[in-house]
Amino acid sequence: MGVGLLYHLAEEGCSDILLLEKGELTSGSTWHAAGQCPSLVGNYNLAKIHAYGNNLYPRLEELTGQYVSWHASGGIRIARAQEDLDWFKYMRGISENIGFRMEIIGPDEIKKINPFFDTTDVLAGAWTLDDGHADPAGLCNAMARGATNMGATIEKHSRVTDINLLPSGEWEVVTEKGRVIAETVVNAAGCNARQVAQMVGTDLPIANIEHQYVVTGPVQEFVDRDEEIPVMRDPYTSSYMRQEQKSGLIGIYEHEMLAEAWAPIGYPSWESDSELFPDNLERLMPWLGRAMKRMPIFEEAGIKRIVNGAIPHPPDGPPMLGPVAGLQNYWLCCGSSFGIAQGAGCGKYLAQWMLYGDSEINMTGFDPRRFGPFAGDDYMKAKGFQDYGMTYFTPLPGEELPAGRPSRTSPLYEKLTTKGCVYTETFGWERPKWYSLDGRKEDYSYRHNNVFKVVRDECLAVRERVGVLDLTGFAKYDVSGKDAGDFLNRICANRMPTRIGGITLAHILSAQGRIAGEITVTRLTDDSYYLLSAAGAELRDLDHLLQGRRDGEQLSIENVTDKRGVLVIAGPKSRELLAKLTDADLSNGTFRWLTGKDITVAGVALRALRVNYVGELGWELHPTMQDMYALYDAIWEAGREFGLVDFGLYAVNSLRIEKAYRGWGAELTNEVTMIDADMERFIKFDKGDFVGRDATLKQRDQERVMQLVYFEVDADDSDVRGGEPIFMGEKCTGVTTSGGYGHFVEKSLGFGYVEPQFAKPGTELTIGLLGDRCKALVIADAVHDPANERLRA
Ligand SMILES: Cc1cc2nc3c(=O)[nH]c(=O)nc-3n(C[C@H](O)[C@H](O)[C@H](O)COP(=O)(O)OP(=O)(O)OC[C@H]3O[C@@H](n4cnc5c(N)ncnc54)[C@H](O)[C@@H]3O)c2cc1C
Repeated sequence: MGVGLLYHLAEEGCSDILLLEKGELTSGSTWHAAGQCPSLVGNYNLAKIHAYGNNLYPRLEELTGQYVSWHASGGIRIARAQEDLDWFKYMRGISENIGFRMEIIGPDEIKKINPFFDTTDVLAGAWTLDDGHADPAGLCNAMARGATNMGATIEKHSRVTDINLLPSGEWEVVTEKGRVIAETVVNAAGCNARQVAQMVGTDLPIANIEHQYVVTGPVQEFVDRDEEIPVMRDPYTSSYMRQEQKSGLIGIYEHEMLAEAWAPIGYPSWESDSELFPDNLERLMPWLGRAMKRMPIFEEAGIKRIVNGAIPHPPDGPPMLGPVAGLQNYWLCCGSSFGIAQGAGCGKYLAQWMLYGDSEINMTGFDPRRFGPFAGDDYMKAKGFQDYGMTYFTPLPGEELPAGRPSRTSPLYEKLTTKGCVYTETFGWERPKWYSLDGRKEDYSYRHNNVFKVVRDECLAVRERVGVLDLTGFAKYDVSGKDAGDFLNRICANRMPTRIGGITLAHILSAQGRIAGEITVTRLTDDSYYLLSAAGAELRDLDHLLQGRRDGEQLSIENVTDKRGVLVIAGPKSRELLAKLTDADLSNGTFRWLTGKDITVAGVALRALRVNYVGELGWELHPTMQDMYALYDAIWEAGREFGLVDFGLYAVNSLRIEKAYRGWGAELTNEVTMIDADMERFIKFDKGDFVGRDATLKQRDQERVMQLVYFEVDADDSDVRGGEPIFMGEKCTGVTTSGGYGHFVEKSLGFGYVEPQFAKPGTELTIGLLGDRCKALVIADAVHDPANERLRA
């Protein structure tokens, strides 16, 4: 990972860079890895990282002059159930977008490609043709040589023992051989990353997990053949199986918590260098038995060698790439559990972020600030093991997994659980997803399933009557002081509300004009503001705020996320309902849409904001955490006569897509500008300077390269999720970002970015949806209440 970054920083022309290595290059986890580089990963942006490596590695020897043993074997992943096959179809769309070759093939074809594989119970295979495997040391050394050829320096046998922040803002990096002063430090210490993070007073949720593969004796069938078999990946055996020269190699991801963490505290000693652990065949046996059934030729060959090494594993799977919360110029390039496959791509896109302020791919899912203090030791291990064990499970949409939960809860958690609430987790928070009123459990699927109608009922209740939603997970900040207004006007593209009580939707941009954050700002007094942002952005936006301050500015910034709860009351009956509980005048004359004020509801003093993300008359109520319980009870009682329902985030997605509301992290990302996202109305160029202004103005004068479109899809029993290819004729012209079924308007809807010439309303495109080509019509306005009459009602 470190060498991958070094290579790409150097390639971008940055040569004043030094890599410090305590032992030899690769002597951590890399030297013993099996070296597979799969294309098929169930995350659109991670798939881009893998694809980048698979494109670079075959050329690396030519580029650097260093031998690389790239085996272009390709890979076949096995499907045994319909859901596996649906996932393949989804991934096939992603492959068309990203540009790696993938075919879905039947058992007979699998047999033709690998005649030694038993296809009993096999439904299909995902055959990826551009991946393979390589000796990890060869890849690492080639990138190291390439980097030094381009001016980078590598210092081996030089352990970093301490890192100190100097008054200048630079870092003093203390090594066994002396000190180095660095403007920027990147922690790429693999299994030691936690220790290196602790040198700067922080910690990381990375569990080091033992992982084993076995190498068999020579296999006669391989000896008799010139062609190499693809890397086989099979959920039934929870393993990868491939050829290692003329022997076999089988690696197992055991589940049911059989894996072990390396060292009780989760990280190794400094002395650990090119270390392996005693093998534990017993742990592998159930899976190895299955693998031998799949590839009976391995049985004859016997086991020659077992490798048991350490994998650094973050709680959710993807690597940790980006800044550390609260620190400046201290980055992470670690936590990769597929560091061989990912090393080059992680280095490529992190180098862009470090040097230019943004990466060309969406880094939201890799940003280390997706974890906060809630991700302690128990959380990290429970989630890390869970994710490790599920390596060959098909990722199912909406699947809720139990490990490490609950971690952050609203005061209503128990109460809503007894009412049937099914939760989803965001930034540690348990947030209502849907309500199981009859005890049903969700049958996870890529297609409409047994909660489709339940969610429809929640949506219709909000559109026709009134619903209540616990959105306590919102990130919340109080910003106050003499300079608060000027400060917010400088770091946001929109103008801050001029009137007390005014509410504005505002975006934080990078210097390049790309979208870094989205916040809702309410002006409480002359010099105090209340800010709300996405639950998952709590630490990122706090960094934007804190790091955006100038010396001498008089303002204070407080993260009040844990102090206030949030209840959303939305629907045409919401005013009548609230009027039963408050003396405050809720009429349009005194409480307009997009205004907020302190009122008392059911005896609870709270901040009430007339906004919501579902496009109905409604209020967000922000009481203190202690008052949430009493407030909810009072609302529920008062709501009975209006047919009040609890609703969750599944319904929110349906309601917001009907209103064409964009989502941070999906439509609004570091890849795009406000102009790309068709959000120019939220920019106020005339208010003076703000971060990203020059770049945005410059882009305004240039030809556009992509544009956000909102569309209606002629879909059957599935909806757009993001990552699907968009076609004009046979040409792939863009990618979807999110979508869902609009239950009120009875339409399948979505967003995507396309080439601008295809963005005109009325344009007919097609979308690759689970293997079908579905017609999609570009539409100009929200399909529900485009004039916002209901919000203003
Ligand atoms: C058995 C096994 C098989 C695997 N197979 C695959 C596979 O097929 N494909 C795949 O993609 N991945 C595979 N992996 C995972 C892969 O090995 C890791 O994801 C990858 O090696 C992580 O790379 P890294 O650069 O983050 O860590 P490392 O390779 O450990 O590099 C970190 C380096 O930092 C150095 N270091 C640490 N602390 C300091 C310090 N204080 N000062 C200076 N230097 C320091 C270490 O010495 C080390 O060399 C496998 C892992 C195992 C255990």
